[in-house]
Formats: sequence, C-alpha cells, structure tokens
Amino acid sequence: MKNFVIAIDGPAGAGKSTIAKLVAERLGFLYIDTGAMYRALTLKALKKNLPLDDRKKLIEMAKNTDLKLIQKNKKLHVIVDGEDVSEEIRSEEVSRNTHYIASIPEIREILWDMQRKYRETHNIVMEGRDIGSKVFPDAQLKIYLDASVDERAKRRYLQLKEKGIDVDFEEIKKEVMERDKKDKNRKIAPLVKLPDAVYIDTTNMTIEEEVETIIKLYREREFKSG
Ligand code: C5P
Repeated sequence: MKNFVIAIDGPAGAGKSTIAKLVAERLGFLYIDTGAMYRALTLKALKKNLPLDDRKKLIEMAKNTDLKLIQKNKKLHVIVDGEDVSEEIRSEEVSRNTHYIASIPEIREILWDMQRKYRETHNIVMEGRDIGSKVFPDAQLKIYLDASVDERAKRRYLQLKEKGIDVDFEEIKKEVMERDKKDKNRKIAPLVKLPDAVYIDTTNMTIEEEVETIIKLYREREFKSG
C-alpha cells in the first residue's frame, strides 16, 4: 500500500508552512516544503548572477545542483551544494524572483522527481502549489488552504517584522497579490482549486483550529482506506 500523503496547496501567506509543520509533527509524518526548493534554486541563480530569463542556463544549473532538505531538531534545513541556506531563501528578493524557476518545465520535472521520492520511505505532509494536481494526484488527502489577501499580507508582514526585517505593509500586500497572479496564471502547474481538495478558508481561524480540522480529515480518510 502506498504511503499516506497529505497535500497542502494554496496561495502565498495562507499559513501552509506553519500548519503543515504542526500536522506532520503530530502525526509523525515527514514535512516537506516544496517552495523551499524553488527558492533554493532561485537563490543560487541570483548568487551566480545568472540572467533569470535564460532558461538554458537555469536548467543546466538545476541539473548540477545538490539540493537537500534535512530535518534537524524539528527544523527543516535547506542545503544547496553543501551550504545551509534555510534563512537566506526567505528574502523578499528571492520571493519576487521564484517565478522564473517555477515556470521552467524541465526544472519542475527535476523537483517533482525529488518530491515523489520522499513517499517511497515516508508518510508525508507536503505543501506547495501543485502537490495535489501534479506531484501526487493520488494523494489520500488534498487540502486547499486559503485566506483573504489582507489577512495573508498581514501574516507575512508580522512574520518579517518578528525577524527584525523592516517592511512596508502595502509593499508586502502588493508582492502577495503579484505572486498570486503569477502562481495562478503560469502555463505549467498553476495553482488551482481541485474538485477533490478540501477548501479551508483560514481568515478567521486559529492555528489550532486549522491543525485540528486537517487531523480530523486525516483520521476519517485513514479509517476509510483501512
Ligand atoms: O511556498 P513559497 O511561498 O515559499 O513558494 C515560493 C514560490 O515558489 C511560489 O511563489 C511559486 O512561484 C514557487 N512554487 C511553485 N510550486 C510549488 C511551491 C512553490 O511553483 N509547489
């Protein structure tokens, strides 16, 4: 029998990481943040000063990158060619530029292969934009996590402020909206609400309520699939 996959998709700032991490922790599942992979390749391209519209160069780079996600002390570490870039990949510059990497089919194929491998050895909670649609169309539980644009911008703003990064709310809101547009309209693997995904609007929910809702859904599915 195939290992259990909880696929969590949704727009930027919907709280996917927080929720996916907690659900994985409670269930003893492996937590995989696929956005971190697109971010890691984007960071590498930026550091190497590669022209971000040169697909050939980016594909070559992706093929020659040693990318690893490692869980240590409850934290997911992103390692690129031996270097821990877990913090660096969260910058606004990286956020603004992931769409270049994300729209290249050959690069998505490389990352999809990596993502699918985790299921061979683990039950997983995987979050991203295309987990239910492309990575695991046969996931046993698919969630679409959403929240209003204002709420998502507010969460992102507070997150960055907490880290001591000085940001402007309106700028963040603009960036979130821009990313929504790009994620939903890209040709390959756009963010979609699947008919077989459970839609959860988290605008007025607490983190605990969200986690409980997903765990309850998991128990129902687990019971059904025996
Ligand atoms: O989830 P996060 O906001 O960190 O993702 C950063 C970016 O990576 C997204 O805006 C999107 O461009 C890309 N991404 C993607 N497919 C995924 C996860 C992320 O294209 N499964």
